[in-house]
Amino acid sequence: MDVHSPEQRSFNMSRIRGKDTRPEMMVRGWLWANGYRYRLHRKDLPGRPDIVLPKHRAVIFVHGCFWHRHGCRSTTTPESRRDFWLAKFSENVSRDKRNIAALLEQSWRVMVIWECSLRGKNATPELVAEQIADFLNSETRFAESGTQWKRE
Ligand SMILES: [Zn+2]
Repeated sequence: MDVHSPEQRSFNMSRIRGKDTRPEMMVRGWLWANGYRYRLHRKDLPGRPDIVLPKHRAVIFVHGCFWHRHGCRSTTTPESRRDFWLAKFSENVSRDKRNIAALLEQSWRVMVIWECSLRGKNATPELVAEQIADFLNSETRFAESGTQWKRE
């Protein structure tokens, strides 16, 4: 249920502040303020999704671009111990793929919100708010945040 106008919604997303301004907290604050109820880190689901919205049969992952290899400018590779990092990253990427596939298999809908779309120079929090609402109020199976709005 969405009780706010789009204007209020975008206002909320960009204004959500507090002690903890991690992107995950922004998303949780926005969901809560807009009447979406969720559970956190359900251990019984593949990948222990950050946010679970049972009513919408949806899960949301808020991914750090570095660890989850978004491919944006934050997706750097440390100079030292390069092989270690590359192996680590490739593990992370395959684990993410596996978890998302398993969730979809169990009829969960999955949205990935990338950190760079909420924090940093290229952040578009208002757009992300719209994308979350769009995703939750649709039958979309998979979506990613960002200016290159992708969904299947
Ligand atoms: Zn990114």
